[in-house]
Amino acid sequence: MEFYPILEKRLSLLLIIAIFIANTGFANKINNGILDIRDNDFSSSIALDGEWEFYYNKLLSPLDLKQQQRQYYTFPSTWENVNLNNQSYSSFGYATYRLVIIKDNNTPYLALRIPDMYSAYKMWINGKEFSNNGKVGTTKSTTTPFWLSSTKILNTKSDTVEIVLQIANFRHSKGGISKSIILGEVTSMLHQRELSVTFDVFMTGSIIIAGLFFLGLYFFGQHDKAMFYFALFCVAYCYRVIGYGNQYLHHIFPDYPWLIAIRLEYITMFLSALFFIEFLKYVFPKENNYIVIRVFEITGLILLIFTLVTPPSIFTKAVNIFQLAIAVFSIYALIVIAKAVYNKRVGSINSMLSILCFLFALVGLILEYKNIYVFHDVITFFCYIGFFFFQSLIMSFRFSKQLEQSVDKANEAVKAKSEFLATMSHEIRTPMNGVIGMTSLLADTKLTAEQKSFVETIRISGDNLITIINDILDFSKIESGKMELEKQPFEIEAALESVCDLFSLKAFEKGLGLRCNIDNDIPIIAVGDVTRIKQVILNLVNNAIKFTHDGEVLLKAKKISEQSDKITLQIDITDTGIGIPEEKRSRLFQAFSQVDASHTRKYGGTGLGLAISKKLIELMGGTIWVESIEGLGSTFSFTIELALNKEAYKPIAHLQDFSFVKDKNCLLVSDNARFTRFITLQMQKMGLNVQHLLSHQLLSKNEDFTTEIDLVILDYSVYNQVKEWHLQKYSTLEIVPILALIPPSQHNLHFSKQVHLMNLPFRNITFRHTLKNIFLAKAYEPKVIISIDNSKLYSKYPMRILVAEDHAINQRLVLFLLKKAGFIADAVGNGLEAVEAVQRQKYDLVFMDIQMPELDGLQATRKIHQSLPIENRPIIIAMTANAMHEDKIKCLEAGMDDYISKPLKEGIVYEAIEKWGKIIKDRLELKFV
Ligand code: ADP
Repeated sequence: MEFYPILEKRLSLLLIIAIFIANTGFANKINNGILDIRDNDFSSSIALDGEWEFYYNKLLSPLDLKQQQRQYYTFPSTWENVNLNNQSYSSFGYATYRLVIIKDNNTPYLALRIPDMYSAYKMWINGKEFSNNGKVGTTKSTTTPFWLSSTKILNTKSDTVEIVLQIANFRHSKGGISKSIILGEVTSMLHQRELSVTFDVFMTGSIIIAGLFFLGLYFFGQHDKAMFYFALFCVAYCYRVIGYGNQYLHHIFPDYPWLIAIRLEYITMFLSALFFIEFLKYVFPKENNYIVIRVFEITGLILLIFTLVTPPSIFTKAVNIFQLAIAVFSIYALIVIAKAVYNKRVGSINSMLSILCFLFALVGLILEYKNIYVFHDVITFFCYIGFFFFQSLIMSFRFSKQLEQSVDKANEAVKAKSEFLATMSHEIRTPMNGVIGMTSLLADTKLTAEQKSFVETIRISGDNLITIINDILDFSKIESGKMELEKQPFEIEAALESVCDLFSLKAFEKGLGLRCNIDNDIPIIAVGDVTRIKQVILNLVNNAIKFTHDGEVLLKAKKISEQSDKITLQIDITDTGIGIPEEKRSRLFQAFSQVDASHTRKYGGTGLGLAISKKLIELMGGTIWVESIEGLGSTFSFTIELALNKEAYKPIAHLQDFSFVKDKNCLLVSDNARFTRFITLQMQKMGLNVQHLLSHQLLSKNEDFTTEIDLVILDYSVYNQVKEWHLQKYSTLEIVPILALIPPSQHNLHFSKQVHLMNLPFRNITFRHTLKNIFLAKAYEPKVIISIDNSKLYSKYPMRILVAEDHAINQRLVLFLLKKAGFIADAVGNGLEAVEAVQRQKYDLVFMDIQMPELDGLQATRKIHQSLPIENRPIIIAMTANAMHEDKIKCLEAGMDDYISKPLKEGIVYEAIEKWGKIIKDRLELKFV
């Protein structure tokens, strides 16, 4: 329980304040209007209280007083309390006071602190006018009230100091003087005054700032009423410090009329009380008694209205009722706060300490008022500061508590949103998986061409819908901070080129060039979340192809900086497409924003891709931006920070060794200028010498080549013009190997055996591999190295395949690889969906990711095993990023038949299909035997 230690701490603070108590007010005896200060050392100041000469209803000058019969009365006192010669006195009137002070040569220089009086005064010292407040007169019209306390130096060398004081009052309910005049050593008096100025100014500043601060918090925050009333209380109270008491406001506004000042003093007094009552009501709503509160409210309001409508002579009487009300209210507040402390309400301990400070100051005021004891200014100051400090603490606590609550609420809302999205996506995905699954079954039945196209449309729309749902899920996952990034070593070049590969067909169909240019100084291996990086690039390349009608799309990677353990890369995706107007660029990375509403209709898309990309890039410590010229194209660029791992690099370091192509001469025949520039650069980077010819230059060339050519590269743009026999007319080219670059799915091109083939888009990795094959093969023995014709795989093993993978990009990659091999596979996003899918329809092969939401791959496999008889069970192949032996064992133990490791490579997927396709086929044949 933290309550007591907190209380202890706060009490010790109060104790420190209490130590400052110092006794200032003691009085030498004043008898018969004479004060002897010859023995006084003035270590502290003296209140000039005692028996002064007193002449009521007489305004006497120092000269007049000489002939006056002596008459004495207690000083200070207000006239309505005077009882002299059994005669009662009225508050309205005028009077003269006189005091003679006897000092000697040892008496130090002195100063007087003269308080305000009711309600005008004039003072003489040794016959000379010394000080005044307003104008003293014998009638209401000749008297001008004014209040300003002052400290003045007594500039007299004489052994006696005669003080003559005239006071007149026709406006206040009290007449005379209630506060002591203080006499003291000049420097300490001036110091005292400075101290009290400092305290007042400091207090005013602090209170007003606190008030405005909490007012701001109220308006811009949670509209906490307690905060609002506390702010108003501060603002109202601030007048009481600066306008009342020492009345320093008069130094700023010297002609500020007494009638306004007194009304403001009372108004702010009642208002502060009312605001404090409201504050207490809202800060501890359960502890308050609303009837009592209402009584206080009504009392305060009546007093306030009374002040506004009656003259000062009447409303100043209200102070007595008010003092009584304040005393009752203080007790009530103490009870409420004690209850709050008991109930452990937020800020109740601070509230208690704050009210104690206030009561302490109040007691001080009463003691001073009754002339029993005078607290040092420091004490009063700290009491007030303590009061406001502890109250402010309550407000701060409340604010931070509210903030915490709002954050909790917001988190709950985000959680609810994520849960809703997860449920919704599950609810939509389940039937959609069914629809998509059925289309593949339907596509296998006998259909007319028209029906086939309908089925195809259903399939495409279904796939699009699933992509949108996945995008929304992904976005909400990043927004709710649930996205965790992987840190796995990966091959940078392979990752970037695999994205290009995914789009090769699409780009080719649109007649667009698609190239990947990776700077040589980029390390082969880096550590990061390759799937997420690919996701971003995939989205940018997809957009680039989508919004480009002719020209090319270029994916470029360059190094920005490298340190021993990390590297920063910049990836640019440049297109020659429609471009983006400048005014639209800033909104591009916001969710659901598209340059033009018509884009959704024309190009499809949700406007989420760039928003997701931006968030992912920021998660990876990078930035993303776009440069664009409308009509000419755009470049989307981003930077990412990746960790370096020298160990992971070692096994594949040999890939960087290009020494085998050093100084080889290469003839490039191409009519495509951009492609020529690009491939020339790539080859020069590797150390090849490149000579370029356009097809017609080659055809019209009559002489042989002067340099010996080691390799001829034919771009597919020149196949029709340049047949191999054209090359053969040059003797130097006769036995030179030829490398033909062929577009995707152009397997029906016919070449002689001497031609090496490489699929486009141009991939550095494949190119290096091909060059190795060409140059390192024995004595340049030409051989055809067309990659296995995977398009036949489906016709060889017509299996139904399901891919269970939660990462959208990995899912797309596997589906793409399978599509290349002729399979139209279905995909699901988690283990549960996988179980549902295999129960719904028959699949021969399932590629199963291990880590998936809802149900992981291992659990899903176990469920499939439990629910399906052995003959209906699909072959399950795990796709696992964890290449550890134990993980593989775990997969097999769960009932999986095989595993392949991620990131998936074309060859590995096809190998698995080959291997299991054959087994499934054999099994089927066995069945029918
Ligand atoms: P989507 O493509 O799914 O609509 P994105 O967030 O990826 O969502 O893109 C938002 C919008 O930005 C697109 O609809 C398009 O208007 C604009 N845009 C993105 N990339 C390009 C580009 N390469 N060229 C022209 N406009 C683009």
